[in-house]
Amino acid sequence: MSRSVRAPRGTTITAKGWPQEAALRMLQNNLDPEVAEHPEQLVVYGGSGRAARDWRSYDALVRTLTTLEGDETLLVQSGRPVGVFRTHEWAPRVLIANSNLVPDWANWEEFRRLEAAGLTMYGQMTAGSWIYIGTQGILQGTYETFAAVAAKRFGGSLAGTITLTAGLGGMGGAQPLAITMNGGVAICVDCDPRSVTRRIEHRYLDVQADSLDEALRLAYEARDARRPLSIGVVGNAAEVLPDLLARGAEIDVVTDQTSAHDPLAYLPVGVAFEDMAAERDKDPAGFTERARASMARHVEAMVGFQDAGAEVFDYGNSIRGEAQLAGYGRAFDFPGFVPAYIRPLFCEGKGPFRWAALSGDPADIAATDRAILELFPDNEPLARWIRTAGEKVHFQGLPARICWLGYGERDVAGERFNDMVASGELQAPIVIGRDHLDSGSVASPYRETEAMADGSDAIADWPLLNAMLNTASGASWVSIHHGGGVGIGRSIHAGQVTVADGTDLAREKLNRVLTNDPGTGVMRHVDAGYEEAAQVAEDRGVRIPMRES
Ligand code: NAD
Repeated sequence: MSRSVRAPRGTTITAKGWPQEAALRMLQNNLDPEVAEHPEQLVVYGGSGRAARDWRSYDALVRTLTTLEGDETLLVQSGRPVGVFRTHEWAPRVLIANSNLVPDWANWEEFRRLEAAGLTMYGQMTAGSWIYIGTQGILQGTYETFAAVAAKRFGGSLAGTITLTAGLGGMGGAQPLAITMNGGVAICVDCDPRSVTRRIEHRYLDVQADSLDEALRLAYEARDARRPLSIGVVGNAAEVLPDLLARGAEIDVVTDQTSAHDPLAYLPVGVAFEDMAAERDKDPAGFTERARASMARHVEAMVGFQDAGAEVFDYGNSIRGEAQLAGYGRAFDFPGFVPAYIRPLFCEGKGPFRWAALSGDPADIAATDRAILELFPDNEPLARWIRTAGEKVHFQGLPARICWLGYGERDVAGERFNDMVASGELQAPIVIGRDHLDSGSVASPYRETEAMADGSDAIADWPLLNAMLNTASGASWVSIHHGGGVGIGRSIHAGQVTVADGTDLAREKLNRVLTNDPGTGVMRHVDAGYEEAAQVAEDRGVRIPMRES
């Protein structure tokens, strides 16, 4: 059955309170055709990440959220409402558990079997927890990663540098804009000409070069003028990167976002792009082997650039693992992006704080943007992001914003937004949440918790503690998921969303949740032995019993 869903806007509500109305609108917003990739299948993003298990469950969710009292809690089991219980006004209005399996059963095969039997759904991260805000989330995370690269190696800006990367797909397509927003020059390789033209149409990519010579000429000119520019080139990264390395191309940063996590989606050398689908269908095993062999060449060139002095990192697509499977011995010579750049931010409880305006009016987001600039006047990368996002980000569904804030910052922002709702400066309440990719809310050994200092990569108690603490602190809805980002069997993570409806009670809840939620990130990193986190805990008063004597 095909349905069209869109969240209501404005101040007339159908639920019995703003927190319930907010959950209802955010569920509907996730399924808005402007937001969701395949709304007719209830798929929001990230492969098959769903907002509800099926349309019958969706209808029951809407019905229940509309009738839910302010002292009741709705339980959702993998996209399906399963119970309503009397709790109290500080309790979450919704508690969600998505895609969880007993560990010995936690693999794709078993998950798909149970999904086909109608017993579960894949919730990804923010799909099944109703706080997805479209590609802005990916753009901001990518911007933040390149800002961290700039801070680490280039004095805070990518101006005067050239970044070489590949993959201009759904997520990788954010790379060129994130690099130019940081002042740099990007050369982006993709074997699919449509990926290149699509990014130009959407204004994520500036120009296409017809040859490598032209790409280098444009890149050097822009670099020398310290002018941001992104350049697309059609080609196979497994050929282009070794070629550029052999020419001695002056490259400062190298990464990759081809879809290497799935060898059937990576084009092997020797296969024309037009023949890719046919070749794959004809012989999937042979195709996988050839793709892995090409990834080994691709990664070997990345290591070559590192040897030549470039900053090189894996951008969470498993290309190192695939190259290693093909027998390349130095695949893990360069780090993953989390240990390289993001972990220091996680140590400060920093992560992807996001909010949406339930009024539906972009003016409300413009007002919150101004508030963020006022609240954090000394944070230059944040100010640059907020200003550029205001100019360049096209809203999908309810107007929304994302920016990275840490411990001691998120609560300040949340309380200010609540005050703005109370005073009438904003037209309707604001929903405040985050990605599950956050400092204290995820266990994911191939990504967010790769190479933890104490080896605790696979310890999954932390996201569970995070969810329980957010529940105890007054969040409006809390979720525990399995398998988001990197797939079934590979991650456990939690989310929270809290509504700023202008009431004193909301202010109290926001203060607790937005202090405690990033506080679990500081705690987790102190426990793993990160001195930066211990310093943050000490300076800002996060109590860590094992360090008190
Ligand atoms: P996608 O499938 O939409 O796009 C992949 C692109 O790679 C396509 O445009 C394809 O044409 C291109 N490609 C494939 N083989 C190629 C080759 N040999 N040479 C040049 N181009 C090639 O995927 P996506 O959503 O953009 O994600 C890309 C990868 O990045 C995935 O593996 C994803 O898991 C990973 N990713 C990680 C993070 C993170 O860890 N934060 C964030 C975003 C994406």
